Order: sequence, then C-alpha cells, then structure tokens
Amino acid sequence: MEGGASAFAANRYVQAIDLVGGAPVSISPLEDEISCQAIYERLEGLLLPGGGDINPRHYREEKLCKLRNPSDRRDNLELTLVRWALQDGLPILAICRGLQVLNVALRGTLYQDIASQLTQPLKHDCSCCARDYLAHEIEIEPQTYLAATFGDLRIHVNSRHHQAIKEAAPGLTVSARAPDGIIEALEGVGPAFVLGIQFHPEDLVANDERMQRLFSSFVEAANAPRTVL
Ligand code: MN
Repeated sequence: MEGGASAFAANRYVQAIDLVGGAPVSISPLEDEISCQAIYERLEGLLLPGGGDINPRHYREEKLCKLRNPSDRRDNLELTLVRWALQDGLPILAICRGLQVLNVALRGTLYQDIASQLTQPLKHDCSCCARDYLAHEIEIEPQTYLAATFGDLRIHVNSRHHQAIKEAAPGLTVSARAPDGIIEALEGVGPAFVLGIQFHPEDLVANDERMQRLFSSFVEAANAPRTVL
C-alpha cells in the first residue's frame, strides 16, 4: 500500500476478513517477485482490494485522462498474483479496483472514466460521501453465486469508483448491474470461487449481514479443499 489513505483503506479489508474468522496477510508492492511467490504459496485465498487506476496499457488502450493514484508496481504485482490464483483455482474476492484487475488479467477492458465516456450515467463516484452511503441499487442476475449469497436480487450499495468494466473478459459472467447498465459484479464460470464486485462491502459489514456473507463465503472457500482445475 502506498500512503496513509491506502494503508487505512486496506485495513478495512483486513478487519472484514478478521471479522468472519479468516487470517489476513497483506502483501506489499515493494516485495520482489521471489518473496511474492513465497508468500503466495502459503495463501489459501486472494483478496484484491480497492485503489487507484490501472494503467490502460494493460488493456491495450491509450490514456484518455489523468490516472488517479497509478502504481506500476502495484499493477504488476496484482496482475501477477491474480493470474497465479486463476491458474491454481485459489479462491478470489476482488473489490472495486480488484474487480477491474481481475477483468484486465483475463483480457477484459475498462471505461477509463464513466462520467466522460458514458451518456447519463448514475453518480458512481461518491468518494466525498460517507463510506457507507448507499449511492444506487444493483440488480442481480438470478442463478448466480452473488444471488445465492445475498438471497436478494435487488440491493442498495455504496459506490466509490470513476472507472468501470467495459467488456467482461472471457471466463467471467456479469452477475449484477446498476440501473444505468454499469457492471457491478462479475463471477467466474468455472468451479473455483471467483467473485468480483464494484462496491465496497468492507464499509457495509457493520450494519448489513448480507455484506458479511461475501467475506465469510470467501473464507469458507479458502478453507475448503482446493478445486482441482
Ligand atoms: Mn457503482
């Protein structure tokens, strides 16, 4: 993590995993690849947290606007980790930027800036509001893992992103959208636990048991014997 704000934000993910009985370990982008691999080999699940913009070269685009909090080190670290995890069938919970990293790792693309690239989008960039401010509703696809986890097909979520998924990558299916069509969740089509969400459940766990279930189902998947791919 870089800077106090990110470190603080990262701590909220650590707290959420701890809350549901998991044992969180943070990996710094300062680690070299050999140390990362050594840490990775001891993990039972991979949580990709929120953060700054991914460099668009990773999805074969030129920069359309100034990147927010870019970090080549972090891009490279997370893209490497998620590719390893996908290959090994390690459970993946990807949140906000994490969802975007997951999609980009599988050759999906992003909107670099929702407000300038889409006509009449909802306000998704509510970074100035309280972290648990419920900015918009999402509509969840029935028969998806997300629908089963929530037990609901409509739910209100917070929203702190200015980028979004454009084309979902092969191997991922859309499991939720906002009323303006923006993709709010993707999940894997295979047997492994692969769930990516655009909202921030770590800021909602205190008052919403459904949000806790996202973390507890991830930790359960991490504790279960690995699905052999
Ligand atoms: Mn949103």
